[in-house]
Amino acid sequence: ISDKFSTVVRTLAGKSKITEKNIQDAVEEIKVALLDADVNLRVVRRFVNGTMEEAMGEKVLKAVDPGQQFVKIVYDRMVALLGDEEHQKLLLKGPDTTSVILMMGLQGSGKTTTASKLAARLKKEGRRPMLVAADLVRPAAILQLKVLGDAIGVPVFSIDGEKNPVKVAKAALALAKKDQRDVLIVDTSGRMHLDETLMDEIKRVSEALKPDETLFVADSMTGQNAVTIAQEFEQKVGITGVVLSKFDSDTRGGAALSLRSVVGKPIKFIGTGEKTEDLEPFHPQRIASRILGMGDVVSLVEKAQETINEQDALKMQEKMAKNTFDLQDYLDQLNRMDKMGSVDQILEMIPGAKGQISEDDIDKKEIKREKAIICSMTYAERTNYRIMGPTRRKRVAAGSGTNVSDVNRMLKKFEKMRLTMKKFAKNKKYQAAMLKQMGM
Ligand code: GDP
Ligand code: MG
Repeated sequence: ISDKFSTVVRTLAGKSKITEKNIQDAVEEIKVALLDADVNLRVVRRFVNGTMEEAMGEKVLKAVDPGQQFVKIVYDRMVALLGDEEHQKLLLKGPDTTSVILMMGLQGSGKTTTASKLAARLKKEGRRPMLVAADLVRPAAILQLKVLGDAIGVPVFSIDGEKNPVKVAKAALALAKKDQRDVLIVDTSGRMHLDETLMDEIKRVSEALKPDETLFVADSMTGQNAVTIAQEFEQKVGITGVVLSKFDSDTRGGAALSLRSVVGKPIKFIGTGEKTEDLEPFHPQRIASRILGMGDVVSLVEKAQETINEQDALKMQEKMAKNTFDLQDYLDQLNRMDKMGSVDQILEMIPGAKGQISEDDIDKKEIKREKAIICSMTYAERTNYRIMGPTRRKRVAAGSGTNVSDVNRMLKKFEKMRLTMKKFAKNKKYQAAMLKQMGM
C-alpha cells in the first residue's frame, strides 16, 4: 500500500499546477491501493468521496502549491481514519486497587504474546502486574504464558487440571487483590473461527471480572476480516480497545485503516515483533505517514527543495567537515526550519531522527529565543563565537530580551553541535545517509 501511495504522493506533491483530471486520477489510484490493502469497502468509499470533494475545492486548485495541499488532505483524512487523537492510554484504575485487562481474539492472533508484552510494559511503569492463564483449550498454553512470565519476572496464575476459565479468573482476581497486584492481565483462549462456545466462555469470564479494559487483539495481516471478528466481539462481549499484532509483518495496513472507523474503538498498541519489548503505543499520525510512504523522505524532500538547494547543502557539508559552521549558518538553518513547517513534522519524516534529537533540542520557544539571541549579535560575533565574553553576553541578553543564562546555554549547545557535526562529517556512512535524506 505504501508503495502505491508514495508514487501518487510523489507525482502530485511536486506539481505547481494540478487539474481536476489530475485529482481524479490520483484519487482513483488511492482507491485501488486501499482496496488492494483489503480495506473495508465502506471505508474506502467514504475516504475516497471525502477526499475528492475536499480536493476539488478552490482551496486546492487555486493554491500556490496544490500538490502539497492535496497530499495534506489525504494525510489528514488518513489520520482521522486511524483515530484522530494521540495515543490512547490504557483505562486503568489507580495502583491502590486491582485493575483487570481482558485479552480477546482468534487463535494465533497474538493474545498470549501481547499479554506478556503489556505486563512487561506495566511493570516498567512501576505497576505490579499479574498474568492469568485462562486459555484452557490450547495444549501447552499455560506453559507458554509461564515461560513468558518468568522471563519478565511477572507471576503467572494458573490452576492445573481446571477446565473452567471463569473459576480460574475468579481465583486469580482474589489472589491478585490479596497480593496487592494492581493489574491483572487475563489471557483467554481463541478458536480458529468464531463460535458460540468461545463467545459464551469469554462473556462469562468478562461478567465475572468486570474488566477495566477489554482488548481485542487482531493480527494485522488479516485485513478487513479483522473488522468482522472485532464487530462480533464488540456485540457479544464489548471491546474497549484494540491491539494490532504483527504490525512488523503488515505490508498492507488494511486492518488498521478499517478497524477504527468501523468498530469505533481506539487502537491502543501495535505489536512490532515477537520479543517482549516489541509493543508500541499507537500513534495515528506516525502510522498515516508510514502508510503514505512519507516515513521515507518524499515529502521532506519536496518541502526542503523549496528552501534549500543542492549547493546550500553541499556548502553546509563542507562547513561541517572543516568545522567552520558558525552562528550565522546556525541562524540560517533555524530560519529554514521555520519555513519547512513544524519541527515535529520534519523529525517525523527523517528516519531515525526521533532518537537522535531530543524533544528539548527542538523546543519551539527555544528556537525563537535562539534566533533572537543570534540576531542581537554583531557579524563579528556570529562568525566567531569565541569572542563572546561576559560583557558581550550581557549586551546580547539585554538586546534579545533574554537572560545571560539563556545566552550561555545557546552558546554551549552550539559548541556541542559543532563538535558533533565535525564527528559526523568525518563519518562517510553518515554523510551518504545525509545526502540521501536530502534527496541527492
Ligand atoms: P494467541 O494464540 O492469540 O495467544 O497468539 P500467540 O501470542 O501465541 O502468538 C502467535 C504467534 O504470533 C507466536 O508465534 C508469536 O510469537 C507471534 N506474534 C505475536 N505477536 C507478534 C508480533 O507483534 N510480531 C510478530 N512478528 N509475531 C508476533
Ligand atoms: Mg494464546
